[in-house]
Amino acid sequence: MAMAPLLLFLSLSLGYFGVDSAYIAYNTSQQIVAGKLNVHVVAHTHDDVGWLKTVDQYYVGSNNSIQGACVQNVLDSMVTALLKDKNRKFIYVEQAFFQRWWRQQSEMIKETVKGFIDSGQLEFINGGMCMHDEATVHYIDMIDQTTLGHRFIKQEFGKIPRIGWQIDPFGHSSVQAYLLSAQVGFDALYFFRIDYQDKNKRKDLKELEVVWRASKTFGSSLDIFSGIFPKNYEPPPGDFYFEVDDKSPVVQDDHLLFDYNVQERVDDFVAAALAQANITRTNHVMFTMGTDFKYQYAESWFRNLDKLIHYVNKDGRVNALYSTPSIYTDAKFAANEKWPIKTDDFFPYADNPNAYWTGYFTSRPALKRYVRQMSAYYLAARQLEFLTGRSASGPTTDSLADALAIAQHHDAVSGTEKQHVANDYAKRLYIGYAEAEKLVTSSLACLTESSSKIGCSNPTTKFEQCPLLNISYCPPSEVDLSNGKFLAVVVYNSLGWKREDVLRVPVVSQYVSVQDSEGREVESQLLPLTNASLRLRRQHVKAYLGTSPTATPKYWLIFPASVPALGFSTYFISGSTKSGKVASLETLYPSQGSTMNSVAIGKGHLKLLFNANGGLYQYSDGKNLVNAGIGQTYKFYSSYNGSNTDPQASGAYIFRPDGTYPIEYEGTEPLMVMKGSIVDEVHQQINPWIYQITRAYKSKEYLETEFIVGPIPVQDGVGKEVVTEITTNIASNKTFYTDSNGRDFIKRIRDYRKEWHLQVDQPVAGNYYPINLGIYIQDESKELSVLVDRSVGGSSIADGQIELMVHRRLLVDDDRGVDEALNETVCTSYGCAGLVIQGKYYTRIDPVGEGAKWRRTFGQEIYSPLLLAFSEMDGGNWGSSHVSNFTAMDPSYSLPDNVALVTLEALEDGSVLLRLAHLYEVDEDKDLSVMASVNLKKMFPDKKVSKIVETNLSANQERYEMEKKRLKFKAADTGSETITRGSPVDPSELIVELGPMEIRTFIVNFNYIKLHKS
Ligand SMILES: [Zn+2]
Repeated sequence: MAMAPLLLFLSLSLGYFGVDSAYIAYNTSQQIVAGKLNVHVVAHTHDDVGWLKTVDQYYVGSNNSIQGACVQNVLDSMVTALLKDKNRKFIYVEQAFFQRWWRQQSEMIKETVKGFIDSGQLEFINGGMCMHDEATVHYIDMIDQTTLGHRFIKQEFGKIPRIGWQIDPFGHSSVQAYLLSAQVGFDALYFFRIDYQDKNKRKDLKELEVVWRASKTFGSSLDIFSGIFPKNYEPPPGDFYFEVDDKSPVVQDDHLLFDYNVQERVDDFVAAALAQANITRTNHVMFTMGTDFKYQYAESWFRNLDKLIHYVNKDGRVNALYSTPSIYTDAKFAANEKWPIKTDDFFPYADNPNAYWTGYFTSRPALKRYVRQMSAYYLAARQLEFLTGRSASGPTTDSLADALAIAQHHDAVSGTEKQHVANDYAKRLYIGYAEAEKLVTSSLACLTESSSKIGCSNPTTKFEQCPLLNISYCPPSEVDLSNGKFLAVVVYNSLGWKREDVLRVPVVSQYVSVQDSEGREVESQLLPLTNASLRLRRQHVKAYLGTSPTATPKYWLIFPASVPALGFSTYFISGSTKSGKVASLETLYPSQGSTMNSVAIGKGHLKLLFNANGGLYQYSDGKNLVNAGIGQTYKFYSSYNGSNTDPQASGAYIFRPDGTYPIEYEGTEPLMVMKGSIVDEVHQQINPWIYQITRAYKSKEYLETEFIVGPIPVQDGVGKEVVTEITTNIASNKTFYTDSNGRDFIKRIRDYRKEWHLQVDQPVAGNYYPINLGIYIQDESKELSVLVDRSVGGSSIADGQIELMVHRRLLVDDDRGVDEALNETVCTSYGCAGLVIQGKYYTRIDPVGEGAKWRRTFGQEIYSPLLLAFSEMDGGNWGSSHVSNFTAMDPSYSLPDNVALVTLEALEDGSVLLRLAHLYEVDEDKDLSVMASVNLKKMFPDKKVSKIVETNLSANQERYEMEKKRLKFKAADTGSETITRGSPVDPSELIVELGPMEIRTFIVNFNYIKLHKS
């Protein structure tokens, strides 16, 4: 009812001259009211663990000319704001920041904050070290960074985060839903970035809140209630931003002052609530009151939120309350609604017709590779730390753990941060690596020195490692071995099964030979180091180390190694009077080309045929009886630079191609064909900035492609996105499969989405998906699989074809905030040049239905390469003073082919974290998609398990407790699948069963530790 003007004047005047406006006790104690629309006011801040500034700069609030952001201010001011009114609530998400802050607080503040946490005023949401990306991260890294945060919260506060809060990542993965949410025990998962077409449809149908059934294998048993915010993670439309410098109108309720606006602000709030209720089921809506780095002066927000809650409730049209995502989730659950079901995932993400966020799948390929390499190293280093005992005084893997955790942030490994921030992530990884390397070399010294049966304090053997082996730089192997010196190479295998692989190290002379630990000569092969490799080495050693290497290696020494499960073998490289076997080298000039002189390589089952221009055209595998035409080429997409009328450019986030250009072999450099007893290689300088090596190993039935791409030329003012393309005649019928975070394979259909009718505006970018393990296509007879060494974007743009984007260099920003062109360069004293990317991918063709074994087993080997450590000896007998072969497991035992050891880690309290993962989905392989069992007694034959407790995925609660507690939301369809999961572990039998795709986590106590040596 409208007030008469006179009455309004009277009431204003009374207020103006009254005394009641001096102090108002706001009633903020409102709870949920049945039968009313409840507006859950969630005060939150989104604190990126690095983006425009580094993580430390954000924390301390430095470098504010880039962005005025200081997380210390947020947390400091939160304390006073929460003290002021016990009804106020706040959530905090990023543990990397919280832990920095917590370390610095006084006992008094700590007690106060513990009080907030106990009373529910402050709640930890999500609870990992960062809010990890979901496209470019590997599931093992997701688990590790979540575990690190969750265990800290449990130990320090006794709390268990209940809610997944992935509010900013650019698309959402199945693995996030069924694994990192349901299996850590979350009751719900919230986010907002889904395709705009999908979102519009969901708004119309009130399907923004769903039950996400993300796993084929686990079906409804791992459903997770998922809420998609209608617009973003900011306050609702209507100007509700209350940072000190925000422009929204504050709630002015003092009659003594001008601009009194209570009714307008209440009306704005109610309008926003009703609008949101219109697209939401049940009478609960959530207002996410905050955004990036807000609440730096928390009182400014809470003052206004107090008033809004007070006056909105006096108004009475809706019910407003201080809430948290947990309270909101409980209210949704209590509503007892049946929710629509969502399957698969939310990739790719587009926020506009020409804005597919599929570029970041490949952005910063060098950082992506470094993260993956460090992840594998961390896994192996933790095993060694476990095997020799965690040292209280260090070195430990903790610093690498922290650096890796931060690197999983959605502006870190994603490649969407500023250059100086990318450098900071790499520096942190390196510092972590350097400490872990000390641990690895001393652990290996300890394990190899036979005198130290139980632990060891002062090992004397010095080991060196070669983290720059990828650019042919390995000082310990580049030594002169002519005077009786030899090199012991300890090869550690972090997998739970025995492994045969081929090693390569650079050497300076051809007069070398390789022996195994029995003194038997091992067949080896020498391959000349090409100019392309030496160039890469020269420039990057200088760039990374600031010095140029003294020696120049001439050959790769290549030899096969056989290494036991969770253990090592030792090989010896020594000088020799006779030359090693140098590969034959044939140089072919394209002018000699004719169909008559095609090139064949492959000494084993795999044979590859190339035409005289170096074009691959035939693949045959005599073991699997596959014979297929195949092609492999490069092309680039020119990047759209934006225009006044159509400004959306290709950038760090977004892939927007403007044309496709094939890259053909220019023929200025001859083709080099190197053949030897272990591997044959075809080397091709395709154009001045793409070099490629195709390998066929005698003992392996897949082809390995190594590429060196860059500097991508941009003098023409056009960014370029470089793609490698594999073509076959497989009739793939628009269908291909890509992995979710290295785990489940998801079916993709070109230009199609299962849940809505897709309007195709970007036929390439809109069909790109993230790839962490691999991609495959198939027809009725064959399947083609390609596996990758890092996270990349890829697709199948035509039937029979697979493409991977291996590198991108762009000249303009794509307007999503980073405000920098993705134009990576490397500077040395020679000057600056565009970044060169070196990497590998692996291709194989199988009879249909047979490909999974290779993808899973070899995929695990790619993730966990053998770890090499070198020790130089001046003669003498290594075997008399060292253990040459070792396995931590019973020598006759191996993990089943379908199980991987994902975590083996000595925790600070002396217990051990053990995680085992089944590698196959239901129905993925006829032999291996079955229940597997692991015998812990044989895995740890020299240790006695005194206690074993199965936990949830992030190891902060017991599994069965978690499963009892977790809210099971009703879905439109209840699901009637049969799920195979292992039964509880009997502590006397110690057999761990794993059903398909099952990951089981245990905290184990061993009551004595004795090292096993064989
Ligand atoms: Zn963010």
